[in-house]
Amino acid sequence: MKNKPTTPRRQFIRNIGLAVGTFSLITPQFALTACTSGGNQEGAATGTDTASSSQTPQKDKLGIALVGLGNYAGGQLAPALQETKNCYLAGIVTGTPAKAEEWKKKYNIPDENVYSYESYDDIANNPDIDIIYVVLPNAMHPEYVIRGAKAGKHMISEKPMATTVEDCQRMIDACNENKVKLSIGYRLHFEPHNQRVMELGQQKVYGNVKNISGAHSFTISDPSRWRLDKKLAGGGPLMDVGIYVVQGACYTLGETPVAVTASYGKVTKPDLFSQVEQSIHWEMEFRNGIVAKCDSSYAEGANYLKGEAENGWWELSPAYSYGGIEGKTSEGPMDLPQVNQQARQMDAFADCITHNKETSVPGEMGLRDVRILMAIYESADKGGKRVEIEG
Ligand code: NDP
Repeated sequence: MKNKPTTPRRQFIRNIGLAVGTFSLITPQFALTACTSGGNQEGAATGTDTASSSQTPQKDKLGIALVGLGNYAGGQLAPALQETKNCYLAGIVTGTPAKAEEWKKKYNIPDENVYSYESYDDIANNPDIDIIYVVLPNAMHPEYVIRGAKAGKHMISEKPMATTVEDCQRMIDACNENKVKLSIGYRLHFEPHNQRVMELGQQKVYGNVKNISGAHSFTISDPSRWRLDKKLAGGGPLMDVGIYVVQGACYTLGETPVAVTASYGKVTKPDLFSQVEQSIHWEMEFRNGIVAKCDSSYAEGANYLKGEAENGWWELSPAYSYGGIEGKTSEGPMDLPQVNQQARQMDAFADCITHNKETSVPGEMGLRDVRILMAIYESADKGGKRVEIEG
């Protein structure tokens, strides 16, 4: 599945600021809104989102095709697409004929909108499909995003965007070259409690942030899962769920870390963890000496994001689940609604396409995060050496 890089790396942005909900967060460098128009912010200079949507016909709802009908596509995305206002489940791409039959019936998908991995490129000729959402194992994202972009479709890639920085860049380049938009499945950017954390940290509601901590872990016991196969997963819990903590620290501050240090945990189940790490601890160092202490493991459960500032604190626990997110601050419980994160995420992207606006979760953010993940692995491989993040 690996491909060689074909183009040089694009200069990437150091800081990603966010504007969420109804407020706008301006960092010294730039800010992004859930959907922003115009090209005067640094996010616009990245290219992906400057793509014209002229090839997208005006429709009430854009059609989405899901690629890879596994747990996430079947358990979360397809149900969410029954609730979306700006897009709907129009097609599927699968290697399993029995799933094609089941999904066709369940979601009323016509035969002509069902593809295999071999016939996938024919999707270029299908006007029902405006957006392709790649929900395959991590190392397969690049091939299917690039083929989808060449078919002229707007693309969503699940996280982590890819297993190498070079692959992320190739995905961004393919989308730019084919004038289609690219977004990453970062659903928590559309979740009110996590949006509140962005506001608390980035707007310094309780003064300057002093420190951040977070963990996301769960237990894997089935040795056949692709998540334990380094070629398909790219790594272990860090790639899979640790990425949420990386994201959480970055969106708390609206910044990218300047350096990381990391160490692997003990391997207590060598039969399961011969290719990928069982657990990992890492620290992300931001400007002004702010440090985020983070953990991820496949051998225990954990799910939180905390921040401490000069005059107050906040905590989400659970922080990263599909629902039931709970938050409190030094002032009391956060009284915020539970939402369908995936429906909001996909509706926001469809809206960006229809109105030619930028996504708040672009390919460049996915690349930034994979760069941080790779630096964390490099540090752990080198016994905790401090690894600077390229700006
Ligand atoms: P699953 O293993 O449940 O599904 C993956 C699907 O990909 C399979 O069912 C299969 O679908 C297809 N596939 C094609 N080739 C392979 C292969 N060689 N090995 C395994 N599957 C293959 O994975 P998930 O749905 O849990 O994860 C898919 C992606 O979504 C990952 O990148 C993951 O990180 C991401 N994810 C994101 C979440 C989020 O909250 N944003 C949550 C969970 C996952 P088919 O039979 O149709 O061909």
